[in-house]
Amino acid sequence: MSNQDTDNTRTDQLTFQNPVTRYPSISPPKQDQPEPGLDRDLEPETDRGEFSYRGTGRLEGRKALITGADSGIGAAVASGFAREGADVALNSLPEEQADAEEVCRIIEAAGRKAVQLPGDLTDVGFCSELADRAAEALGGLDIVVNNAGRQIAVEALEELSEEQWTRTYETNIRAIFLVTKAALRHLPAGSAIINTTSVQAYSPSPTLVDYASTKAAINNFTKGLAQQLAPKGIRVNAVAPGPFWTPLQVSAGQPKEALPEFGKSTPIGRAGQPTELAPAYVFLASPESSYVIGETLNVNGGMPTP
Ligand code: NAD
Ligand code: MG
Repeated sequence: MSNQDTDNTRTDQLTFQNPVTRYPSISPPKQDQPEPGLDRDLEPETDRGEFSYRGTGRLEGRKALITGADSGIGAAVASGFAREGADVALNSLPEEQADAEEVCRIIEAAGRKAVQLPGDLTDVGFCSELADRAAEALGGLDIVVNNAGRQIAVEALEELSEEQWTRTYETNIRAIFLVTKAALRHLPAGSAIINTTSVQAYSPSPTLVDYASTKAAINNFTKGLAQQLAPKGIRVNAVAPGPFWTPLQVSAGQPKEALPEFGKSTPIGRAGQPTELAPAYVFLASPESSYVIGETLNVNGGMPTP
C-alpha cells in the first residue's frame, strides 16, 4: 500500500482488530497489464507484509522454495517466511525481475537468504531441475510452496483456445506434479508441501472453466499425495484463497468491468490483501500443524465451502 495508506493501516497480524476495517474496501479502477502483471504497476498497491507481518520464529532455520514468489500471494508468503526465520528460493518469470528484486530486498532485510531462480514452469526440463537448484543454493530444502498460476477469463467456450487450455493446465497443475516429484529427492521427514488452490475449485466462475478446473485438480492431488507421503513424515496441504487483490486480476484474470466490485460480495465486504494469507502458509509449513494433513485451508472472507 502507499505510505499514506500504510500509515492508517500499519497494524501487524497479531494486533487485536476488526477484520472488516483492517483494510479499506477498495474499488480498483479499470486497468490492464500484459500477462504476467507486475505489483509495481498495480493500482491501488497491495499489502504484502513489509510493514504489517510480524514474525515469531516459527520457521527458524527452514529452507523454502516458492513458485510465483515475486508478486501477490507468493510475495507475501515469501516475506512472511523470512520474517519467521526461513531462507527462501524464489521462482518467477524472467519478465517479473523488478517485483522479484523487491521481495528479495524484504527477505534480506529480515536477515535471511534470498535466491532468485527465474524460469518458465511450462518448461518440463525447468520444472524438473528447479528443486535441485533450490536445494543446492540453500543447502537443503524442507518447504515447497507451489503457488504459481495463470488465470485468463474467457466469456465463451467457443472462444477458449486449445492453446490457452493447455497452457493453463501446464502452469497450474502439471508444474505442481513435476516440481513436487523432483523435490522429493531432497525433502527430509518434517518437510511441508503447500499448494495454492482457490475457492474456484468449488464455485467456478462461468468465465474461468479452464482455471477453475485446474484448482479442483489441485485440491484432489493434494489429498491423494498427502496420504502417500504422510508415512514418510512429509505433510501435503493446500490453501484456497478467495478474492485477493494481486496482479493476476488485472492481467486478464477478471473481466475489466468487474474490477471496481472485486471482492465486495464476500461476507466481510472487501477483497483480501496478500499478507492476510501469509499466516495460513506459515501455519501449514511449521511443525505446529504436525497432525494437519491433506487439508485445504480456506481463506476467503467468509464464503461457504464444502
Ligand atoms: P500473481 O500474478 O501475483 O502470482 C502468480 C504468479 O504465477 C506470477 O507472479 C508468476 O510468477 C507465476 N507464473 C505464472 N505463469 C508462470 C509460468 N509459466 N512460469 C513460472 N511462473 C509463472 O497473482 P496471485 O493472485 O498472487 O496468484 C498466486 C496464486 O494464487 C495462483 O496460483 C492463483 O491461481 C492463486 N489464487 C489467487 C487468487 C486471487 O484472488 N488473487 C484467488 C485464488 C487463488
Ligand atoms: Mg508476478
